Amino acid sequence: MTVDTFRTIAQSAATKSDSTLWRTIIDTLPIAVYLTDAEGRLTYFNSAAATLSGRAPELSVDKWCVTWKLFLPDGTPLPHDQCPMAIALRGEKVPEGVECIAERPDGTQFWFTPYPTVLRDEDGRIAGGVNLLVDITARKLAEIATERAQRLLSAIVDSSDDAIISKNLNSIITSWNKSAERLFGYTSEEVIGKPINLLIPSDRQDEEPSIIGRLMRGERVDHFETVRRRKNGTLVDISLTISPIRDSSGRVVGASKIARDITKGKRAEAEILRANRDLEHFAFAASHDLQEPLRTITIYSELLGTRHAGKLDEQAIEYLHYVRNAATRMGTLVSDLLSYAQVSKLEESEELTDANEALARAIECLSHTIAENEARVSSESLPAVTMHRTHLQQLFQNLVGNALKYRKKDLAPEVHISAEQQAGRWIFTVRDNGIGISQQYKEYVFGIFKRLHTSSEYAGTGIGLATCRRIVDQYQGEIWVESEPGEGSIFRFAIPDGA
Ligand code: ADP
Repeated sequence: MTVDTFRTIAQSAATKSDSTLWRTIIDTLPIAVYLTDAEGRLTYFNSAAATLSGRAPELSVDKWCVTWKLFLPDGTPLPHDQCPMAIALRGEKVPEGVECIAERPDGTQFWFTPYPTVLRDEDGRIAGGVNLLVDITARKLAEIATERAQRLLSAIVDSSDDAIISKNLNSIITSWNKSAERLFGYTSEEVIGKPINLLIPSDRQDEEPSIIGRLMRGERVDHFETVRRRKNGTLVDISLTISPIRDSSGRVVGASKIARDITKGKRAEAEILRANRDLEHFAFAASHDLQEPLRTITIYSELLGTRHAGKLDEQAIEYLHYVRNAATRMGTLVSDLLSYAQVSKLEESEELTDANEALARAIECLSHTIAENEARVSSESLPAVTMHRTHLQQLFQNLVGNALKYRKKDLAPEVHISAEQQAGRWIFTVRDNGIGISQQYKEYVFGIFKRLHTSSEYAGTGIGLATCRRIVDQYQGEIWVESEPGEGSIFRFAIPDGA
């Protein structure tokens, strides 16, 4: 039933003497209806009007409207004598589709559109009025929520550093918000309706069909690193995340693209790589070149001690002892530094290395220390991993070596090596019953030259764990320690399965 039909019904009800039927109909209508006399005093309201306004107005007293309080859509109060019904009763025209807010006595509010009509007597004089209030709250709340969401979305999109673009399946750009303009230099007027190829360098044009293919299959493209061309012709390194846009039936109809400028990151990455290579080269050259003079010091101090022993007094012998000790320590430092610098020198291995074999070799190298400490070293069956054998052996040798070295004075060392598969990685564990490490140093100990003890307490250079970290980093792995002082240590390293 349309609003006009309601008006006709109300007109008939007010003017015809046999109006009982019409009154009954209006009373039961689910739409708020009320009548006033020529002065605006309420003469009738139906139950829907009472329900909507949350009150039962006082007939012949309340004027103009059934509602308690009225507001304009912007929230300013609207006095009842200026409400659409009052305007209509003054004989003025009320615009169609006006929207008002009313407040109920319980404080809740609702939106409505009034449809006031004046009722005239047989002489054409205004005899009263009828008003229909159509509740539009649900629609308005939905509109407000959508508008808020859109405002929020556009604020996010506009303030984002990432360019956000959408396109249809014919690769035509359909939206281009502010950040895309900043990144690529084109305004939205220049690109909307144009093919996305505009941004793709000629040697990468084949990327678009494969991206469209993946989108058609409903797949998302995540962090795809590529290069795009700006309006001024310069190239920009970007990371693309592309998601399919679906219509209400779920069909893929386009895609939204988030393009992130990764030029700075790429430049920094290249600089770090270069700096790392320089540092490696320096560490390698320095440690390599130091070996020669060190050998000379060792040889001649030994000759001095053996061939000229008789000519040396007690103090000279003591000094010579210091020289030899220092040379030995320096020799260890140089060879440790050399193995640290050499980690990345090994070509990446495609071959599987049997971890049992690598561990056996490490244990063999440590056999003297194991015997000396009366240590027990046990292991479970270990897997084969795609890793250079030297690297895996170095890991075991450093970790098992430390487990033997950082032992409790009164307890024979026990070391256990195991491995388990977890979320696509092999996690190797080297567990000991030694002195343990405080949690606050669990990162510190992996730094180069970082030690928790003096050389007189425990001999060492502080390079072993740093070398271990460099090795696992090379395989995109991880290394960490779980320990408490006095409770032994658990060193674990994770290597991606099939690394
Ligand atoms: P180094 O043993 O030559 O000092 P590392 O890099 O191998 O150097 O180890 C760094 C430090 O971590 C050691 O000085 C020691 O304090 C601590 N640490 C390493 N392994 C253990 C362990 N198994 N138990 C207790 N402390 C350890």
